Amino acid sequence: MRAVVGGGPLIAVPHPEVGQIQILGTEPPIPVPPAFDGRPVVRPGTGAEAAIAEVAAAETAPAIREVTGEVPLPADLVGAIPAKPSLPESARREAPRLDDVRAALARLAAPITEADGVGPKIAELFAQLNVKTIEDALFDLPRGYQDRSKVRKISELTAGHTETVMGTVKSRGMVRFGLRPGFELIVEDGTGEVRAKWFHVHRGIEARFPVGAKVVFAGKFELFKGKLETVHPEIEVLEEDESEESFAKVTPVYALTEGLGQKQRRKIQAGIVETWAKDVPPATPFWARQKRQLVAPGEAIRAVNEPEADADVASLIEHTSRWHRSLAYDELFALQVGLALKRRAAARDRAIPLKIVHGLISKLAAFLPFPLTDAQERVLAEIKRDLMHPRPMHRLLQGDVGSGKTIVALMAALVAVENRTQVALMAPTEILAEQHFLFARGTVERLGVRVGLLMGSQKKPERDDVLKKIAHGDVDIVVGTHSLIQEGVTFKNLSLAIIDEQHRFGVMQRAALRQKGGKGGDRVPHVLIMTATPIPRTLALTEFGDLDLSVIDRMPPGRTPVETRVCGEEERSTVWAQVRSDVSGGRQAFVVFPVIDANDEVASATEGQKRLQRDVFPEFRVGLLHGQMSREEKEGTMTRFKNGAIDILAATTVVEVGIDVPNATVMVVEHADHFGLAQLHQLRGRVGRGAAKARAFFMIGKDAADEARERLGVLERTSDGYEVAQADLEVRGMGDLTGKTQSGLPPFRVADPLRDMEVMTQAREDAFAMVAADPKLREPEHRVVHEIVKHRWKGRLNVGDVG
Ligand code: ADP
Ligand code: MG
Repeated sequence: MRAVVGGGPLIAVPHPEVGQIQILGTEPPIPVPPAFDGRPVVRPGTGAEAAIAEVAAAETAPAIREVTGEVPLPADLVGAIPAKPSLPESARREAPRLDDVRAALARLAAPITEADGVGPKIAELFAQLNVKTIEDALFDLPRGYQDRSKVRKISELTAGHTETVMGTVKSRGMVRFGLRPGFELIVEDGTGEVRAKWFHVHRGIEARFPVGAKVVFAGKFELFKGKLETVHPEIEVLEEDESEESFAKVTPVYALTEGLGQKQRRKIQAGIVETWAKDVPPATPFWARQKRQLVAPGEAIRAVNEPEADADVASLIEHTSRWHRSLAYDELFALQVGLALKRRAAARDRAIPLKIVHGLISKLAAFLPFPLTDAQERVLAEIKRDLMHPRPMHRLLQGDVGSGKTIVALMAALVAVENRTQVALMAPTEILAEQHFLFARGTVERLGVRVGLLMGSQKKPERDDVLKKIAHGDVDIVVGTHSLIQEGVTFKNLSLAIIDEQHRFGVMQRAALRQKGGKGGDRVPHVLIMTATPIPRTLALTEFGDLDLSVIDRMPPGRTPVETRVCGEEERSTVWAQVRSDVSGGRQAFVVFPVIDANDEVASATEGQKRLQRDVFPEFRVGLLHGQMSREEKEGTMTRFKNGAIDILAATTVVEVGIDVPNATVMVVEHADHFGLAQLHQLRGRVGRGAAKARAFFMIGKDAADEARERLGVLERTSDGYEVAQADLEVRGMGDLTGKTQSGLPPFRVADPLRDMEVMTQAREDAFAMVAADPKLREPEHRVVHEIVKHRWKGRLNVGDVG
């Protein structure tokens, strides 16, 4: 929609942030409270009332969707943006007292030994489950359920349904599934027999299920080779005296550890829930729970531990029940409040605004053997626009493997250098840092730009020298690993930090880097993050949501997609024949192995290199590269491979990212079933960097065939990194991605961002609206929220002291 202020058009658009509208040209956007009725409050006497009123007259924010360009607005309009839109009435209802909340939190922080039946010995066992306090125990929800009120006869089971079965162990034994040891049980109940399987087993599992034991188990039954079976069921051995009535219930099943039995855990848990569940204070204000029809966490905890007789068991098992959603919402709301507060604080950050001169970039462009693609030009323009601002850039530069991110990043670096400021370029591994260093030096040194390398493995005199140069401003671009953000590294005037492969960096590290800003520390650097892995939609609603996105969506011309095949052992000779043919024709090949050291099950690179050289390719030069080699050795090997003095490189995944040898055309990955899809996609990205036809062969063992071939098949079908990432996410679940090592996100106790996507969206919408409407969290109920957010995310998200 349009309105007119002081002669210029006013354009309002729904802000990408849920629940806000933005008048273009203004900062910040006008926040729309949860109960937005289309009429933000306008401070009178600012001369902009008419315009605002017209914006407000549009039905609701999402109805305003026209974008026609940016228009600078008169200052008085910016001033007219309502600072504090109204909250729903329920926000003002009587709030719990802060003191009571603190006391409750203190009670919950008591050690688990306070619970009945938990002495020091049992406490040790709980500790192994990461349950140390009463609060930990309350949030360690049942892992599954058995619906013992509806036990099925084996003859009644059908494929695709989750059921509870009771029977007697007929036989049991250790088996192998591929390379992994597994366990299986055959259970009979007089109407038939059925198989239960475990792929991950601890020692001693056999002893737990003697033949003849009476067991009850629940799981989803599927047909396998014509017979019904269930994988990883919730199972329990029944004792003689277990009476029918205590039995016929929806029974929770908890995580256990050796020495802690299900019945024992169940009893302890019931006591804890009985005594303490009511103490758990909600992070969610009443108005939000009401709006989303959720219950307070104490009530939800009780319900999931002691389900009602008529509870919907399927939704309990899937953790999608109303109670589970209530708990997930409460947890995610606390996270989103933290992020909203953090964002407000970050809005005050100042960076060094850079002038765009183009001297160095034009000179570099003249040297390059190729013009930038349109996609590269576009993202470079986006980056340059950010760099001109005094607001720090937080931009994610995403492009598939080989799309040419590095050169774009380097050009951005030249902007900073031209402004007589410094750039930090950080890589996830030393080997990659060195590659970047060599590339940067080879590319820009002739323009008079000084490039330095700083790494943990450098000898002290060398390191001290680099440190001094960084502090004095005698290097312009400093390349390194995360050691670049360690204490003791002081920049003279850092204006831009470029991070390669964010997924291996934590968000916390990003925060540390921000504190390295130049000019007496009152400026934070612009941050550009390069990644080949698309940020899944779920993560976009978390910490990563604060990044602006630039995507290189086209490959440089002349690339052919890497022809990919998943091969069994029987195709081995064809694979070697292809390697031989390419290498004879002057090309080069990689053979990647999963681990470094000899291991009786998995071939190692060291052994693999010997075998390849001696038995398979005696006529070629086979080199070796792995992470345990010294820096000099690695560098030497890489240089020889680049120069063509090595034909075939046997390596570990140190070659995964960034290694750039366009002459290499074949990638063989041994035991490919041991790798993640995204990782294999990265690996095949090491070839196909030139115009020549490139191939990737992902070798899988005979045993692993079915499941692995299926999983890896997606790589044969698509060369699109986004599709691969999505498939990868589906197979692995969010666990890996939200784990600290991957993204630096705090682990969730209850929520699963993948499963609880919708809940996450709602929590974010409500949390951001709340912080926009009450930025200091002064409403009594919001003060309580703030207290809980601090408590929950203490030391995990760096939000405690914000706001
Ligand atoms: P990635 O995005 O994986 O980091 P790189 O920046 O390493 O990709 O680029 C991959 C290869 O493509 C390099 O050899 C680089 O020199 C080359 N390259 C980059 N941009 C272009 C372009 N516009 N035209 C042709 N080749 C390019
Ligand atoms: Mg790269």
